Amino acid sequence: MSAVREGIGALGLVVALALGACGATPSPDPSPDPGRDGESSPAAARAQAYVEAALEGRAFAMLRELCEVAPARLSGSANGQKAVEWGLATMRAIGLSNVRAEPVMVPHWVRGEPERCELLGEDDAVVEDLQVLALGGSEATPPGGVVAELVMVRSFEELAARGEEARGKIVFFNRPMPRIFANTFRAYGQAVPQRTSGAVEASRVGAVFALVRSMTTRIDDHPHTGAMVYPDGVPRIPSAAISTLDAESLAARIERGERVRLRIALHCATLPDVESANVVGEVPGGDLAHEIVTVGGHLDSWDAGQGAQDDGAGIAHTLEAARILVASGLRPRRTLRFVLFANEENGLRGGHAYRAAHAHESHFAAIESDAGADVPLGFGTTAKGARFAALREPLHALEPFGMGALTPGGGGADIGPLAELGAELFGLTVISHRYFDYHHSALDHIDSVNERALALGAAAVAWLAATLAEIELPPRT
Ligand SMILES: [Zn+2]
Repeated sequence: MSAVREGIGALGLVVALALGACGATPSPDPSPDPGRDGESSPAAARAQAYVEAALEGRAFAMLRELCEVAPARLSGSANGQKAVEWGLATMRAIGLSNVRAEPVMVPHWVRGEPERCELLGEDDAVVEDLQVLALGGSEATPPGGVVAELVMVRSFEELAARGEEARGKIVFFNRPMPRIFANTFRAYGQAVPQRTSGAVEASRVGAVFALVRSMTTRIDDHPHTGAMVYPDGVPRIPSAAISTLDAESLAARIERGERVRLRIALHCATLPDVESANVVGEVPGGDLAHEIVTVGGHLDSWDAGQGAQDDGAGIAHTLEAARILVASGLRPRRTLRFVLFANEENGLRGGHAYRAAHAHESHFAAIESDAGADVPLGFGTTAKGARFAALREPLHALEPFGMGALTPGGGGADIGPLAELGAELFGLTVISHRYFDYHHSALDHIDSVNERALALGAAAVAWLAATLAEIELPPRT
């Protein structure tokens, strides 16, 4: 260890000399913000300590372990159950109190045999295999698949206008995620109705299949799955996502005036619900122990990749924050409760079960991490007015590390139901430019995760949890 440190020291000197040679001045190391009297504030000292603990900590090791033990941990799957057992064991090893599994019934959708999607030529000869993934919750196709012509649209309005044309065909929803937003979650929000409701809209005009351009800003060969829904009263047609590279290729053929025919076979099925669990552990509070600060992410993932970014990162942030706080000997005033939520991806049953099981409690605040493993920027929050201002001041302690942003609007899917119980919600904000490169695809793999960025996110979550365990906020107005 000491040899490594000396090595870094020598490297640091080389870097400093190199910078000096080109006239730049190396910026000083981040250090706690000096308070008004020149002393480091307690909030800043805590931020420094937690960042140092995280950089020497276990966030990446825990994520690597989760991805090895329980990759592709879709609700209802055997790996989903392994993840619950791993979460319980990890919480106990960290030294959390009251560690338990709180039962949740979850959907059990299975993909079955790999999908097939073939571009057909003359006499239905196969010209090319295309990359598709069934959407979660989709029905299977009839045995042998559906064979039909493709009708490409870029909006539900266009589909409605061309409804007659789509009867008996495969509707191809090919509107890309808008590329203009720095916050790619906004872009996702604008494009994702094609995935969640494409099958319904296509079914309403008599189509036989809904094929959706994958939700990613990257052009590649990896389809991205995700949830879709069938409301009552609409015939259920199957639906799949196609890779962006294949989507571009099909669009070019259609724009050239080619008649495009596909054969698509999906083998998925929805089985009866199975029992899973929210995994819960606590650091008991002191004089305000009856007030709860919930900290969590979701333990389930889609089945295409390992679920390292979505939401293994949130699980690592949650568990590493817990580890740092336990190791620091923190005695919080409020109870800190760490929750690994079940079934965020295709049902949100975990978040709703947690709200129902804990509706009688006093929920002060909740923090969620479900935006990936990239560099943390700060937090979004539901706090408004004087409460927002009261939080703004202590958040300055995270600024030396680039994590001090507090922005209006925040929370997360799992903690959302706690707002009705009075909790102020916080979502960890991370740089999101590349998040949808990985999201719900085979690329959501541990090697897409930067170890240092992940550790910093855990430090930010630990710091906010400790702060919310003691802060006084003005009443809501
Ligand atoms: Zn997620």
